[in-house]
Amino acid sequence: MTPRELSEEVKQLVPMSVAVRHYGFEPDRAGFISCPFHAEKTASCKIYESSFYCFGCGAGGDLINFVKLLYGLNFKAALMRLNTDFNLNIGVGRSQNGTDPERLRQINAERRQRERELQEYREKYNSYAVMFRELWIKQKTQPLTENERIKLNILDDWLYENPYR
Ligand SMILES: [Zn+2]
Repeated sequence: MTPRELSEEVKQLVPMSVAVRHYGFEPDRAGFISCPFHAEKTASCKIYESSFYCFGCGAGGDLINFVKLLYGLNFKAALMRLNTDFNLNIGVGRSQNGTDPERLRQINAERRQRERELQEYREKYNSYAVMFRELWIKQKTQPLTENERIKLNILDDWLYENPYR
């Protein structure tokens, strides 16, 4: 298996919420934990089914990213750590597939396309998250206007339906 296939397999096997509990965090009813990546009083790190995003510091990613950041590991070490911590018993090693040049070009083109889409999506997510956070903070100290309330709800729905990846 390639590292990418391995990481997909690990993410299939270990939901985010299970992993964060294993590492000592307890998501609140809304699915937030106190962010391990910046100091804060109010939990603002949202745990989704297969990703996380902190509305405070902008840290985000998938399970592998979470473990990388939490323990300061590289990609492969994070995979191995998850493999061990959850007894996944999957092989962490080199792919033994032959390399057909045409197939390889196709795979690379697809990967670049996915990365472009992901990049666009992340920029959108980040800008929505910033707007959401501004309104979310504001409503703690002052009432929102009708328009702001509608905007907050729309952003909330969008962020919920398009979890950070
Ligand atoms: Zn944070």
